[in-house]
Amino acid sequence: MNPDLSIIVMVWVFLTGLACGSFLNVVILRLPLKGVSIVRPRSHCTVCGGAIKWFDNLPVASFIMLGGRCRHCGTAISFRYPIMELLTAAAFAFAFLRELWIPESASLALDTESWARAATGCALFFSLSAVSMIDLDRRVIPDEFTLPLIPAGIILAAAFPAAFPGPIELSGSARIDAAFNSAAGAATGAAVVFGLGWVFRAILRKEAMGFGDVKLLAMIGAFTALDGAFMTLVIASIAGSIAGSIYYAVKRDRYIPFGPFLAIGGMSAFWFRQEISTFFFQTYPGWLELLFR
Ligand SMILES: [Zn+2]
Repeated sequence: MNPDLSIIVMVWVFLTGLACGSFLNVVILRLPLKGVSIVRPRSHCTVCGGAIKWFDNLPVASFIMLGGRCRHCGTAISFRYPIMELLTAAAFAFAFLRELWIPESASLALDTESWARAATGCALFFSLSAVSMIDLDRRVIPDEFTLPLIPAGIILAAAFPAAFPGPIELSGSARIDAAFNSAAGAATGAAVVFGLGWVFRAILRKEAMGFGDVKLLAMIGAFTALDGAFMTLVIASIAGSIAGSIYYAVKRDRYIPFGPFLAIGGMSAFWFRQEISTFFFQTYPGWLELLFR
């Protein structure tokens, strides 16, 4: 693609990310509330109920112009809103640069499969962010962002096989193989978390992982295939153990939701599968040899 046009596309991707981040905040707030629509009523202050006009609802910019306070009642607005907006915009820009940027020509690639992966990365980031924040807020993983995305992942893999790499080659048809890898990723993800939950329940005699986690890793597996599902679980377990230990040391609370860690693992497996497998199978064993020599 023409370099100038590439810059315009990247600015557009960033602005779209800001807008999606703003919508993400609404989804996180309203989706878990039964009987509340995502789109109606229009945005209002959660404290005084005052309507938020469009010019006070611009991502990040309005937060700065209002000095982080509601125009009507002056209540402080949570920093979480502009942070989620900026984070989403940064993730969208990264998704496109990661899949499409060609440094030699300082421009974006044009092949359909890479565009499909860039867009899928954005959608996955949006869904996993919603899941993480709702799990942190309310200790529940909404089905809306897990179950429907399992068939969506399988269909996308069949439509853009080169964009969804997987370890199994069986049929001689790239589309069937990609769909199979995606389905196998979903099934394995679900089975492993279900199995682990069962083992923990038997040992600890209490609920360690919910059924929401089972559905979540199934969804992630549908987008990252069999090896991605395992990668996700390994990263989530390492990150979760470290964060859990710190949380216990500080708060004396053993319960920490697992959803956000599966989300971090899933995003890592989707974007960095090559780097991660190089680390675990080449770099990391080298370190071990040094340690035990
Ligand atoms: Zn207010």
